[in-house]
Amino acid sequence: MMFVDGVWRAASERQSHPVVNPANGDVIDTIPLSTLDDCSAAVDAAVSAFDAWSQTAPRDRSDLLYEAWRSLTARTEELAELIVAENGKTMDDASAEVVYALDFLRWFAEEAVRIRGDYRRAPRGDKRIIVDRVPVGPALLITPWNYPAAMITRKLGPALAAGCTTIIKPALETPLTAREIVRTFDELGAPKGVINLVTPSNAGPAVDRMLETGEIRKLSFTGSTVVGRILLRASAEHVVKTSMELGGNAPFLVLESASIDEAVEGAIQAKLRNGGAACTAANRLYVHRSLVSEFADRLSARVSSFRVGSGDDRTSTVGALVSAAEVHKIRDLIARGKGQGARVVFESEIPEQGAFMNITVLKGIESDNVLTQQEIFGPVFPIVEFDDEEEAVRLANMTEYGLVAYVFGSEVDAMRVGHRLKVGMVGVNRGVVSDAAAPFGGVKESGIGREGSFEGLDEYLQVKYLAVSG
Ligand code: ADP
Repeated sequence: MMFVDGVWRAASERQSHPVVNPANGDVIDTIPLSTLDDCSAAVDAAVSAFDAWSQTAPRDRSDLLYEAWRSLTARTEELAELIVAENGKTMDDASAEVVYALDFLRWFAEEAVRIRGDYRRAPRGDKRIIVDRVPVGPALLITPWNYPAAMITRKLGPALAAGCTTIIKPALETPLTAREIVRTFDELGAPKGVINLVTPSNAGPAVDRMLETGEIRKLSFTGSTVVGRILLRASAEHVVKTSMELGGNAPFLVLESASIDEAVEGAIQAKLRNGGAACTAANRLYVHRSLVSEFADRLSARVSSFRVGSGDDRTSTVGALVSAAEVHKIRDLIARGKGQGARVVFESEIPEQGAFMNITVLKGIESDNVLTQQEIFGPVFPIVEFDDEEEAVRLANMTEYGLVAYVFGSEVDAMRVGHRLKVGMVGVNRGVVSDAAAPFGGVKESGIGREGSFEGLDEYLQVKYLAVSG
């Protein structure tokens, strides 16, 4: 599907793309693919609509976001089912995603009317300094498949609140949830050109085409660090303001003072939420040597009751991955990890058909094992032992990534360690950090900028200073 300048462009005229349910391989819908010219038209529409939209009353933008929040909230179940169908995650994961996703619409509805500037007298007394905060311009929003709703709302919410017009480019694996969100805004009367949706078959040239116009003034991207780098380079040409939510390689630390049971539950939450397909997923577990056997035993015992299965089967704890290719990637990583000494201590069953990955617990992992170096994106727990806090901090920081870390221990110990970790977010005795009201984002090669919270709105605003004599 494609939505440009307030018009849905039909599938029949164009090349179409099947959207597949990864749990069973069924084609659930087909969408038209956008051509490069469609992408140019989307830029034109976003540019034409910008002046009027950026000058609407903040209250009107806020009301639109509230109405979208209400309308989509009433359809939570339907939206969750769509996410299950195109992404493969479980109904529980999808329902949690919908709540999280819609929180961004509500939060930014609240924030749209609270954009503040500043007014002060210059020290020399010759002028007044007026600091305004204005929308940055037409924004291109590029999203991945792992959270088909939330990755869109956490960009679209602040963009609309700030007064930016938008072009959404969802992942081709999960465009149907994006379509529902855009359709809702359209039905609620979002002016034409304010929200556009494109689905090109090849993202690279399409995004280049849009950036080359020089009209896109904001690029917000969530995805891999590899693609993030390409987009940062492409953005340099016209000096586009960017927000980058890139890869993670989250360490999960279990200190000597930790409660093993709490740490096991935290690890399950941090790893198995969304089947491990989250940039915030605990990637590598560092456990104090005195606790490691018991931790691995209790973790294996807990996950042995979990079921990997189709997302629409309510008894499934872990759903399908988004594609068979993802499963192969993870199996290959585990094979390489085993070649470096990793031992499987638990492996769950999986259904015979579909893109499923076994819940796997591994021990015997040295600190340079490939399983600690790469983002796994599946239900795999590599456990590394450590002897003291210094070593734990050193190992946790030994990565080019810096999105999130989890620390379990007495609150004093966990906070002390948390302050020393080079990451954007720390879960202190918690396996989940995400919240629409909290600044989400990473340091180092995990990204630039923050999403959600007050900071999330700043990403779509720029400062404008007026010098007034007198
Ligand atoms: P993931 O590993 O999560 O699929 P990607 O970075 O490959 O992460 O994809 C995230 C988003 O970026 C998707 O919408 C995808 O289509 C888009 N994308 C992939 N390659 C490029 C590119 N070269 N330029 C712009 N967008 C891209």
